[in-house]
Amino acid sequence: SEPACPDQASIEVDLDAIVANVATLRGRVQRPLMAVVKADAYGHGLVPVARAALAGGADALGVTTLAEAHALRDAGITARIMSWLHSPGTAYAPAIERDIELGLSRLAALDAAAEAPGVARVHLKVDTGLSRAGVTSGDWPEFVERAAKYAADGQVEVVGIWSHFACADSPGHPSVRAQCDRLVDAADVAREMGLGGFDLHIANSAATLTDPGSWFDMVRPGIAIYGLDPMGDDAAEHGLRPAMRARAATMMVKDVPAGTGVSYGHTYTTATDTRLALVPVGYADGIPRAASNAGLVRIGERKYQVAGRICMDQFVLDVGDDDVRPGDDVIIFGDPAAGDPPVEAWARSAGTINYEIVSRIGGRFARHYT
Ligand code: PLP
Repeated sequence: SEPACPDQASIEVDLDAIVANVATLRGRVQRPLMAVVKADAYGHGLVPVARAALAGGADALGVTTLAEAHALRDAGITARIMSWLHSPGTAYAPAIERDIELGLSRLAALDAAAEAPGVARVHLKVDTGLSRAGVTSGDWPEFVERAAKYAADGQVEVVGIWSHFACADSPGHPSVRAQCDRLVDAADVAREMGLGGFDLHIANSAATLTDPGSWFDMVRPGIAIYGLDPMGDDAAEHGLRPAMRARAATMMVKDVPAGTGVSYGHTYTTATDTRLALVPVGYADGIPRAASNAGLVRIGERKYQVAGRICMDQFVLDVGDDDVRPGDDVIIFGDPAAGDPPVEAWARSAGTINYEIVSRIGGRFARHYT
């Protein structure tokens, strides 16, 4: 049926790009790949991206919360799913019943998973140096000893021992090798306690792209499956294609004289008689306000910089005397190979990373899959 109103702004997610990116990575590593689809698949849409990742050869899906894992099962996805961030007091029974694998970082969580009905499939997380989630090396022997007891009693099955890198986006950083070594040590301790048959995994996108020595039994890329480079460079160099394009239609265009202050605070003043074009998205939609007077968009073949402050629902472009008209298509970011502004340019303008730009895009953008 006809929409009540046309899209003022939309995100196009190219699922073929996700399929191809996963296939490229999977082909390169030649071992199981867990596609990280947490946070609504980095803003691209949890369920469609999960399906595309599986179509591209992903062997498992990784999410943060159990709610995300249940949403995947609710959608009929039967593939392996791992979820790794659970508040104290989480009831694990529903997840175990649906064969959701649990990434565990605390003894109390291990106890809770073991005590729940059914056999919990768990990945024990060791903190090898990120100092975020995970059990420290001092507490690790007690943790794996307890896990081994639960495994012997048939309450848990330890399917993974895993960790997460701090500095893999600085290839060659000495902490990368140190973290790998600590992961291997942690696995040795687990084997001494009688555990076996688990997979070791630590590699995020940066390590998947740059460090074969970190791949172990499975890799766990996120940003790369969306066709973005974890180092903020051009992902095309790795054979990856950005999956998200954000666009909006200009809402109005008007001619103003030289010396006109533009948007809140008049942080931009027109240098000449010129034309302003209004784009109907703003920081409430995930366009970072920090990119005021900096973000770049494309209309037709030309690029334009944001003029003045980005507002809650709109921003302004100074288009000079170009023939820009109401309703013209504004590409906010997309595939640089197609001439679109890269999401990394927005990230640099806003003092952030491509991850934050795509995962926060939302609000009133309609989402379309191609
Ligand atoms: N593994 C864990 C535990 C994560 O939190 C993340 C995301 O931050 C990833 C893997 C994927 O990381 P990246 O998107 O850098 O590939």
